[in-house]
Parts: sequence; structure tokens; C-alpha cells
Amino acid sequence: MTTNLLKQLEQPSGKKLKLKINDNRTTMLSVRWEPDCTQVSLNRMFLEAPRNVMQALGCYLNSEDRVMAPVIKSFIRDNLNKQDSSHLLDRTKLITQGAVYDLQELFDALNHDYFHGALSSLAITWFGKSDQRNRSRVTLGLYHSHLRLIKIHRMLDSQEFPWYVVAFTIYHEMLHHICQPYTDEKGVHRVHTKEFNYQEQRFLQFDKAQKWIEEHQLDLFSDA
Ligand SMILES: [Zn+2]
Repeated sequence: MTTNLLKQLEQPSGKKLKLKINDNRTTMLSVRWEPDCTQVSLNRMFLEAPRNVMQALGCYLNSEDRVMAPVIKSFIRDNLNKQDSSHLLDRTKLITQGAVYDLQELFDALNHDYFHGALSSLAITWFGKSDQRNRSRVTLGLYHSHLRLIKIHRMLDSQEFPWYVVAFTIYHEMLHHICQPYTDEKGVHRVHTKEFNYQEQRFLQFDKAQKWIEEHQLDLFSDA
């Protein structure tokens, strides 16, 4: 396998390449350019890398300016996102009960209604302060994929926000677990994919929620 990888990364200059595959969690890619040889330590994830990533990597190893292409960075980020560190999450610190809304209750209903209960392993919690001043700039929902954790801004824990807006925000974050981001041919990192947008419209109160959000000029989903 490593021989195959070496072939893909062969230097046009004919310079020797010393390649090591590592399994650690911190070094994704490290390179040492030496006069007679280039030493590379690659994380195991690169064994599954698509051709465009390997090409970019080959260029990087050979380049003089030593700037890593976005496609390589995205590949690393996507793979890190796929990793599951949810065992590190301290569930006792999660707060789901709010003054108005119980996140767990809403989550469970959505999980049942839209996902056949398949997302039970995800965790959810409130974050932020309820008296958020600059409302238009706040991110109302977040999904930390490596922790399998959804965070919903406390600002939503208010009678002012209809339940379907809170539920829609949670639903949106749940979809981030289902619809994996990817890096397109141009190296652009795509989070809200076509599939994502399609799935989002399955939410029964989709139009109503969208309208409410627009009318209140909230940018709910700036979560990249
Ligand atoms: Zn999103």
C-alpha cells in the first residue's frame, strides 16, 4: 500500500521521498525538506485519499513556496470530523431543560418523526446567554461532529420564538450528522449540500419557519 502511495507522490525532480504512515491523532501531515531527500509523515487517513488530494499533495511536497492546497486541508478536516470522540463528552454537563423549551424533548420527537430513532446517540445542550444583544449576528445552532453534539443558543429559550423555529434549528443540526460535508473538485468545502437542502425541506413547518426567520432577520445557519 505504501509503495502505491509512494508512486503517486513521486517527485518530478526525482528527489528521494521517505514516507512514513502514522496513526497518531495530532500529526496529519508533516514534511521535512532536506537537500537530498524529502521526509514525510502522513496520517493513515491519506491511504483513502482521492486522486485530486494526492495530486495536490505531490505538488506540495515538490513546491518551493510550501503552501498547502485548500483541497488537502479540507480533506484533513473532513476526516477529522468523521472521527468519533463522543466518549470524551461529559454528558453530566449538558443542559437540555430550559425555561420554556426542553431540548431533549424536542430532539426525541424529531428523532422519532424524521429519523426512525436512528440519531439517539447524539447529545444536545444549550449554549450562550439568553439575553443576547446582537441577535442578527448570533449562530443559533451548532453541530460538533467529532463529539456528536448539537448546541442550541439560549436566546431561543423564550416565548418569543415559536416552537417550530426551535425545532427547525435542531432539525437542521441533526441533518449535519446525516449529510456529511465534502470537498468538491475545486477544493471547496461544502456543508449545506444539495442533499442537505433537500432533506431540510422535509421538515413539515419548513416554509413557516423560514418565513419567521426571514421576518425576524435572523441568520440561523451560518454554521459552517
Ligand atoms: Zn448548517
